[in-house]
Amino acid sequence: MSGFSEEQLAVRDAIFKICANFSDDYWMEHDQTETYPHELHAALAKDGWIGIALPEDLGGSGLGISEATMMLQSIAESGAGLAGAQSIHANVYATQPVSKFATPDQRDRFLRQIITGKWRTCFGVTEPNTGLETLKLKTTATPTPDGSGYTVTGQKIWISSAQVAQKMVLLARTTPLEEVRKPSEGLSMFYIDFDLTQPGLEAKRIRKMGGRAVDANQVFFDNYFIPKDSLIGKEGQGFKIILHGMNAERALLAGEALGLGYAALKKASDYAKTRVVFGRPIGQNQAIQHPLASAYMHLEAAKHTTYHAARLYDRSDPNHKEYDPSITQYAVGVACNSAKYLAAEAAFTACERSVMSMGGMGYAAEYHVERYLRECFVPRLAPVSREMIMNFVGEKTCESQY
Ligand SMILES: Cc1cc2nc3c(=O)[nH]c(=O)nc-3n(C[C@H](O)[C@H](O)[C@H](O)COP(=O)(O)OP(=O)(O)OC[C@H]3O[C@@H](n4cnc5c(N)ncnc54)[C@H](O)[C@@H]3O)c2cc1C
Repeated sequence: MSGFSEEQLAVRDAIFKICANFSDDYWMEHDQTETYPHELHAALAKDGWIGIALPEDLGGSGLGISEATMMLQSIAESGAGLAGAQSIHANVYATQPVSKFATPDQRDRFLRQIITGKWRTCFGVTEPNTGLETLKLKTTATPTPDGSGYTVTGQKIWISSAQVAQKMVLLARTTPLEEVRKPSEGLSMFYIDFDLTQPGLEAKRIRKMGGRAVDANQVFFDNYFIPKDSLIGKEGQGFKIILHGMNAERALLAGEALGLGYAALKKASDYAKTRVVFGRPIGQNQAIQHPLASAYMHLEAAKHTTYHAARLYDRSDPNHKEYDPSITQYAVGVACNSAKYLAAEAAFTACERSVMSMGGMGYAAEYHVERYLRECFVPRLAPVSREMIMNFVGEKTCESQY
C-alpha cells in the first residue's frame, strides 16, 4: 500500500475495522439466503462513510473518488466481496452528478438523507430492449399539462437495490430521438422518489448467479408521476450530466474488482501453505505458486491504472483542491473505462486461479472462493462490457493517437 495518501490509508484502516464485524460466514449466509446486508450499510452510515465523496456542508466528508475507490476496494477485500460493495456503491457514484449539477436547494433536500443512511439510492439506466445502446433508451418523461411535473413510462432492467432504495437516479428521454440533432441530446437526468407503494411503479426481482445478497430488478414505470424539481440540471442535457456518475462508477467498480481479487488470492495462498499432499504443502509446487504470483502482478498493475483514473476524475473537478483544467472529461472516460477493464480481468484471473489451486475445496461454499468467482463476472460485463470498452478505446483513442 505504499504510495497512497494519508487519507486513503486512513480510509482503508477504518473500513477494515468496520468490516471485521462481518465474517466470511455472514457473507456466505447472506448470499445463500439472498438477504440484503442492511447491517453493513447501517454501520457505514453510522460512522459517516456513505457521504465520503459528498460535500462537507451537507454532512459528507468532502473527499473524492480516490478515497471512495479505496473504501470500496477495502469493503470487497474484507471478504464482503461484490455483494458488500454493491450494497453501498450507488450511494457514492450515483449521487455525484446530483451533487455537481443540482441546485443548492435540491442538494440540501436530496443528499443529506443519503449521507445519514436514512435513504438509499439506485441507478436506473439500463433497459431491456436497448441494453448498451444507452442513447436509444425508450423510457420517456412527459411534462404534465399543468406543468407540475412529468409522467414516466417505460422499463428498466438490472436495477440493483431497487427493493430497498427510496431514491433513483433516472435517465429518461424528454425529446424524441427524431427531433434532436445528436442522439446524446434530449435525454434528461432526474433524481426521483422511488416509492413502490405509489401507482405506476413496480419492481420484480431477477434471480442471478452471484452477489445474491443484493437484489437486481426489472422496473416498470406506467405514467408514474414525478414532481418538476426531480429534474437535475437542464432538460435534454442529462447524458452529459450522468456521465459524471458513470465515470465514478467505473473507478469504484475497478476498486471493488481489485478487492475481490486480492481476497481470493489471500484465501488461496493461506490454503496452499497448509494443505499437505505428497508430503509437502501444495504451495511449495511452482505449478501452484506461479499462477497465483502472476495473478497478483496483474492485480498490482490494474491497481495503478485504477487509482490513476480516480485521481484524474477528482482533479478534473473545478471544486477539487488540485483541480487541473487540462484534464478533459474524455481523458477521464478513457482512464476510468481502461481501469474497469483491466481490474475486472485481473480479478477474474485471480478468482479462477484461486478456485483451481484449492482443488475440490475451491468448489466448496465454505471456502468462499467459489462465491468470489461467481461475483467477479459482474465487473467484467457491467456497467459496460469488455467489448464496448474495446470499441471505445479502439475507435476513439487509438485512432486519435496514431
Ligand atoms: C448484477 C448486475 C447489476 C446491474 N446493476 C445495474 C444498475 O444498478 N443499474 C443499471 O442501470 N444497470 C445495471 N446493470 C446492467 C448492466 O450495466 C448491463 O447488463 C450491461 O450494461 C450490459 O447490457 P446488456 O446486458 O443489455 O447487454 P447487451 O447490450 O444486450 O449486449 C450483449 C453483449 O453483446 C455485446 N455487444 C453489443 N453490441 C456490441 C458491439 N457493437 N460490439 C461488440 N460487442 C457488442 C456486449 O458487449 C455484450 O457482451 C447491472 C447488470 C448486472 C448483471
